[in-house]
Amino acid sequence: MSDSRPHLQDHSIETLRERFAEQGVAPYRAEQVAGWLYARGVDESAAMTDLPGDLRAWLDRSWRLRALAWDAIERSADGTRKGRLRAQDGALVESVLIPEGERTTLCISTQVGCPLACSFCATGALGFKRNLRAAEILDQVCRMREALAPGERITNVVFMGMGEPLLNLPAVIESVRVLLHPKAFALGPRRITVSTAGVVPRIGALLDAVPVNLAVSLHASTDALRDRLVPLNRRFPLSVLLGALRAHASVTARRPVFFEYTLMDGVNDGVEDARRLARLLRGLPSKVNLIPMNPHEDSEERPSPPEVVERFAAELARHDLTVTVRRPRGSDIAAACGQLAARARTVRPGSESTCSTP
Ligand code: SAH
Repeated sequence: MSDSRPHLQDHSIETLRERFAEQGVAPYRAEQVAGWLYARGVDESAAMTDLPGDLRAWLDRSWRLRALAWDAIERSADGTRKGRLRAQDGALVESVLIPEGERTTLCISTQVGCPLACSFCATGALGFKRNLRAAEILDQVCRMREALAPGERITNVVFMGMGEPLLNLPAVIESVRVLLHPKAFALGPRRITVSTAGVVPRIGALLDAVPVNLAVSLHASTDALRDRLVPLNRRFPLSVLLGALRAHASVTARRPVFFEYTLMDGVNDGVEDARRLARLLRGLPSKVNLIPMNPHEDSEERPSPPEVVERFAAELARHDLTVTVRRPRGSDIAAACGQLAARARTVRPGSESTCSTP
């Protein structure tokens, strides 16, 4: 039976206050419900014990409190967990929990498939199905909390799963507001990163709306190569992309941009590439994340050998760039960067549990 109630998780707490007021409910109830739903992980109105009975009944009648159901979960030998979650229309979305020392980062998706068709990305090979709604973005956080180990909590959220966040900007902004809100997930702005392949006209809109970290997927230091790897470059070439970044107030205030650079064997991993990259980024506050290509069946590209990765990193460091080499995480369960494709279907039994307390 289809459910026509609106999704409560589609709205920031600020908007929810207005919606509640329009229906004659005191606006502060929005914070209260958000506290249950997001801070405490309770999505059954019956369990929201400090709400009066008539308000609980109104919540049940008027709103949906979850948007995704479990389809499957896979666990990597390195502690990474990949959740495959099902939307009401059957669309599958993947999210990945990545423990790294004191941190546990959750990587979430913003679209079903992706229209950008980057040559080395498995999501791109799927094509584009649809945007996720804000509720479906946020419910990935609620559902994936159920996969946490005892005592573990989500410390960082990265919008680096399936899809291009800036092509679904209103839903991304609304979900970020809930991640930041002190009564909801209460994450600090430095703990949220939104990644883009370079949808230039929307970068300012994102950074002006919410104080998140910006990551930009670069992968090449010439337009000729980037046109091939990231076809979006044909619309927004390197000079336009980097020019827009240099001009933005957050960058002039010395807030660094994170650049992702996937190293592919013999494609973009030479010392010349590193030198050109350093020249391109000169004077731009930046941190470079090098990601050895995660191979998959939709791409011919192979990871650069470790010594080539080292040489590339050393060359960037020699030009005073801050560089990190990302170790592949969860590659045994196809959960690493660029491997998310939500294809296989295995059903996890007993999967309709509620959000667990973080
Ligand atoms: N569309 C956004 C969000 C996706 S983030 C963006 O492009 O930034 C996922 C990151 O993984 C991007 O930097 C993407 O280019 C990179 N990636 C894609 N396929 C990969 C692969 N096979 N190996 C390593 N990184 C990959």
